[in-house]
Amino acid sequence: MDTNSNPATTKKIVEVSSVLSVREYAEALKMPVTQVMSVLFKNGVMATINESIDFETMAIIGDELGYDVKEKADEKISKIVEVERKHLTERSPVVTVMGHVDHGKTKLLDAIRSTDVVSTESGGITQHIGAYQITIKDKEKKERTITFLDTPGHEAFSAMRAHGANITDVVILVVAANDGVKPQTIEAAKHAKEANVPIVVAINKIDLPDADIEKTKRQLADIGLLPEEWGGSTPMVGISAKNHLNIDELLEMVLLVSDLKEMKADATVPASGVVIESHMQAGKGPLATVLVQEGTLHLNDPIIIGQTYGKIRIMENYLGKKIKEAKPSTPIQIAGLQDLPNFGDRFQVVENEKEARDLVKTKSIHRKVISITEISKDIKEGKLKELKIVLKADVAGSLEAIKTSLEKISTSEVKINIVHEGVGDVNESDINMALASTALVIGFRVKASTDVMNLAKRENIKISIYDIIYQLLDDLTAALSGLLEPEIIETEVGRMEVLAIFKVARQDQIIGGKVKTGRIENNCVVKIVRDKETLGEGKITSLQQNKREVSDVQEGFECGLKVVSATKIKVGDSLECYKHEEIIRRL
Ligand code: GDP
Repeated sequence: MDTNSNPATTKKIVEVSSVLSVREYAEALKMPVTQVMSVLFKNGVMATINESIDFETMAIIGDELGYDVKEKADEKISKIVEVERKHLTERSPVVTVMGHVDHGKTKLLDAIRSTDVVSTESGGITQHIGAYQITIKDKEKKERTITFLDTPGHEAFSAMRAHGANITDVVILVVAANDGVKPQTIEAAKHAKEANVPIVVAINKIDLPDADIEKTKRQLADIGLLPEEWGGSTPMVGISAKNHLNIDELLEMVLLVSDLKEMKADATVPASGVVIESHMQAGKGPLATVLVQEGTLHLNDPIIIGQTYGKIRIMENYLGKKIKEAKPSTPIQIAGLQDLPNFGDRFQVVENEKEARDLVKTKSIHRKVISITEISKDIKEGKLKELKIVLKADVAGSLEAIKTSLEKISTSEVKINIVHEGVGDVNESDINMALASTALVIGFRVKASTDVMNLAKRENIKISIYDIIYQLLDDLTAALSGLLEPEIIETEVGRMEVLAIFKVARQDQIIGGKVKTGRIENNCVVKIVRDKETLGEGKITSLQQNKREVSDVQEGFECGLKVVSATKIKVGDSLECYKHEEIIRRL
């Protein structure tokens, strides 16, 4: 037997990078994109032609299409993303203020700004960017810094909420005591909860005669925010942003809540963080306000940022002061980028500008990808047992009808979780809601404007709009099936008796024998049985009959084979050949 021979393989090998769009993947396979899409769909992945899929997904789909999919080495990306954090130190909390329009967010941010012990001495903060930091003295008179993210413009605000999970440690939910809980209050609370960010409620405008704190608390309790004094876990502070009443108490509470979270970062690693604003400025080019989350960002650091890259030429703090370095939780404005990054994009310092350019070229950085394996991994780890959707319908009647049908297709194992629902066209906040909770957006007889479509495209959120209810249900059933763990069926293919051992390397064993029942197949898993006892398992990596490589050998014939196994095979052993089939279960 030729020990150097490769195991027989009928699969074509294709090399791909870690992330590709469906179109690029189909091109790599030299297959019609529709065929690739249909196999994806069969596996529960509803991806359109331009959406990105990850390597694991490509491997699974490729296997089904007769390809052996190998990943091209772009390990540099994972290397930079997974820096080990060894020198953890405390960082200041990052806070976002949310709430219904006119409930006093801006006023509160102003009031907080004026509590700063450092800048008030030097004439107050003149804010240059959409974020600021204050330093206050806590109860023990210790100086503490808090970073506040401002919310410029409506789109950024709603996008900020969607990205909340990544950029904010605590949310201050402002509710006006004379107006109570309103739609945006509910939405903000939902966003924060979905993102697992603790909420401190600021019941504002308590100076007004029609302020009703108790009623506001009752309404908050109704939406799942039970005040601490009623046995709940949501701290609430009555304030007046206008009269600067109880602002210190509110900040004290923010510190208390954030102290409960482990807020640490390693200031010694290459810096990384997130974009919170960006715009073009004449003479300076693309400018971005970023929040440093790990490491220390230095002047002249080469970075990749979203789909672009650059070198930090100018760095300014929120006061517009030029600085040379920025530590974790610091918001800063940077210049020196090739192009404008998007809100929510991540940045990462790399070794040099060339590396930054090369990495950006691979296009795969930080692209959000759709992945079946991620979903199934999450299921296996018990993290995910549901398919999250944002559901929009034309009228209340159809919304209810769809909800009832969806309940029917859910099982005890996997279910559909409607994270947000409503009547009317798909809007920006639906997309952000989907983004915050990794949900699909499902619409029934509704529309989505070009702006909304563009936002969804940018954020890689899938919007599926249906006119026919059973098509909607069919698609969701298929997606849900992707969430079911496959059933693994083991079937015995045949058995052989070992008659000779030719060679034993570290794990490879070359043996000869005779097939007693059924057949022996190449690439089969074998159980090594001695005196009716299974000693171990192995895999056949090469199979020969009459010195020719074959895919199987039938009962009654002799064969030579290479087995990879940690168990030493002996003459007289029986090898039982098994096949494992994964059956994708449908609902
Ligand atoms: P935003 O839309 O949430 O940012 O709300 P603003 O901060 O712009 O406040 C809306 C209105 O409420 C403004 O006219 C503020 O002056 C007023 N306002 C904000 N906070 C208070 C407060 O504590 N008491 C009173 N009486 N008015 C307030």
